[in-house]
Amino acid sequence: MEILRTPRVTLIGRPQFLEPEHLAVQWKGASSDGERLAEFAGRLCYMSQHNPAGRTTAEYLGNILKQGHGSVFEHAQYVLLVEGISRSCSHELVRHRAGFGYSQLSQRYVDESHAAFVMPPAIQGDAALEAAWTRQVEAAQAAYVAAVEGLMAKYEWVTDRVHRRKMAREAARSVLPNATEVKIVVSANVRAWRTMLELRLGEGAEQEIRRMAVACLRVLQSEAPALFGDFETYAAPDGAEAGRVGYHKV
Ligand SMILES: Cc1cc2nc3c(=O)[nH]c(=O)nc-3n(C[C@H](O)[C@H](O)[C@H](O)COP(=O)(O)OP(=O)(O)OC[C@H]3O[C@@H](n4cnc5c(N)ncnc54)[C@H](O)[C@@H]3O)c2cc1C
Repeated sequence: MEILRTPRVTLIGRPQFLEPEHLAVQWKGASSDGERLAEFAGRLCYMSQHNPAGRTTAEYLGNILKQGHGSVFEHAQYVLLVEGISRSCSHELVRHRAGFGYSQLSQRYVDESHAAFVMPPAIQGDAALEAAWTRQVEAAQAAYVAAVEGLMAKYEWVTDRVHRRKMAREAARSVLPNATEVKIVVSANVRAWRTMLELRLGEGAEQEIRRMAVACLRVLQSEAPALFGDFETYAAPDGAEAGRVGYHKV
């Protein structure tokens, strides 16, 4: 049985900016397509493509963040593949609706007999808790395998094998724990990512989703520092990492 202790976050989609020749911007400083897209949208509002203040993209977007002109950040979309999170963590994640899209591994179709399980951060490092947790999860996985076998026998009359397996797995998954690993593709525009990160990096957020949010933030900061650079992480009093936003947007 595979036990996972950290999430894995991979950038799988980024914006592509196609600059219109008739409204070219006087760019300054290095920037990525997503950052240029946001700057272009902001400058269009005031037709300031000639860049009168001579700002770099980072300076320009920093000012937009400070002003709370959030709609400018809705154009650029980043897509992350998130793996190594539990079903309970993904359930919290998908509560973020505005500007988000999700595709999550189906427990009806996918055989979970060899699923991995995500050990909660609070359990990690405590030998007795880890051992008890591992036993409980192993028992749940064994119950799942037994339930699939029983249900496959019960539904033997279903001639379509794919459909029969789905019928068995959709019922058997009920005994899988919240800790079962899921893989999920998460797409969101920058404004939506910022809102989710602000909520889930906070010390009030559950530790696993907080850890996931830190991992997402690192990827997004490295991809588009001018759009996410105002977030900072720190060691919270509970020993885990937390984060806060520089420019809060209501
Ligand atoms: C620390 C913490 C604890 C939590 N505990 C619980 C809990 O115990 N139980 C629980 O059920 N959930 C809980 N949640 C989840 C929470 O209630 C939200 O579902 C989640 O944070 C998503 O926030 P949101 O709805 O603002 O996000 P989104 O759905 O992404 O919405 C973003 C913003 O868009 C606007 N918006 C979106 N949809 C609508 C709409 N239909 N009508 C009007 N405006 C809209 C709102 O301004 C909203 O803030 C918790 C969240 C956190 C961070």
